[in-house]
Amino acid sequence: MEYLTDALTLRAFDRRIPFDVTLELTRRCNQSCAMCYLPSAESEEMDTETVKAILRTLAGAQCLFLTFTGGEIFLREDTLDLIDFATDLGFAVTVKTNATLLDAARVARLKECAIMEVHVSLLGGSAAVHDAVTGVTGSFDAVCGAVGELRRRGIAVVIMSVITRGAVDDMEAIHRLAQGWGIEHVNFSAIIFPRFPGDASARRYRLTDEDLRRFYATIGSLYSIDQGEEEPCRGMPSDERLLSCTALQDGITVTPDGTVLACSSLPMPLGNIVSDRLETILFSEKADRIIEGLQLSSTPECASCADRIGCLRCPGLAFMDNGMLGTVPREACRHTNAFKAIAGGRP
Ligand code: SF4
Ligand code: SF4
Repeated sequence: MEYLTDALTLRAFDRRIPFDVTLELTRRCNQSCAMCYLPSAESEEMDTETVKAILRTLAGAQCLFLTFTGGEIFLREDTLDLIDFATDLGFAVTVKTNATLLDAARVARLKECAIMEVHVSLLGGSAAVHDAVTGVTGSFDAVCGAVGELRRRGIAVVIMSVITRGAVDDMEAIHRLAQGWGIEHVNFSAIIFPRFPGDASARRYRLTDEDLRRFYATIGSLYSIDQGEEEPCRGMPSDERLLSCTALQDGITVTPDGTVLACSSLPMPLGNIVSDRLETILFSEKADRIIEGLQLSSTPECASCADRIGCLRCPGLAFMDNGMLGTVPREACRHTNAFKAIAGGRP
């Protein structure tokens, strides 16, 4: 999705308008992907009427873009009703799913809902690799069947491909599969977030330095070098009052029990949308402190770094790896160095 222009973003930021909201419907999942960043499947879930009430709240707060995500959202019986309700309220709806539960009947209902696009996770170019990452035999075949059905129905599909250790060699096969479905471009990412601040276990799934260079080289051979990787967020803005990060600036994340986060990578609860007024949450001192921590100036090493313009410098990655904002996301440095190595020194 293209982000708003900086001028519009600045106006929304001043008024704390949550243009772009990610709504986690559940943390339950029928897969156990190696690199999943969700800390636990255990979370209370809002019931149907409560979700509808917060959708009305978000519509009233001028939210435009709404992403339903999980866990796996189609484990909830009411997901299609909620999507329908959201599009009726006028949201531009994106649906994120592992697609394994999308049978022909659900795809037909999705078509009727007039959603913007479906983001489908594809983690390998073969059953052997994809199923090994998801931990579920048969998940690759299920995804391929569902994407074929979505495309036959004329639904826009974005292939989201997180490349974990051992899957770099599959990138071309993933690209070919996408082309077979009439999808020109795969959103590859090699950013693996920890499950909780300081969790070191994510590191075992991150690409080695050599594989990271191959990752960027493969993107460069498939697309132009500036395309093909899903950056966490908006990149360096033209106005210094803006953040390079969309957290709290363009939007928020709401978890299954109504907790409001600046971003799913920043698990610092700001309040609860069911029990607190959204405006109070967004203008709270805690929100101000987080915004301060997201500013480039809060991390002097990044602020003076020659590579900061092209760097994906995600404060959430810094928070999750180092346990605090205002620190350098060394994993982002590693990506920048790998990118530079294959782009002739250009960050
Ligand atoms: S994350 Fe690393 S490469 Fe990026 S701006 Fe900061 S110091 Fe520079
Ligand atoms: S913390 Fe990272 S993932 Fe979250 S909005 Fe900022 S840049 Fe994006």
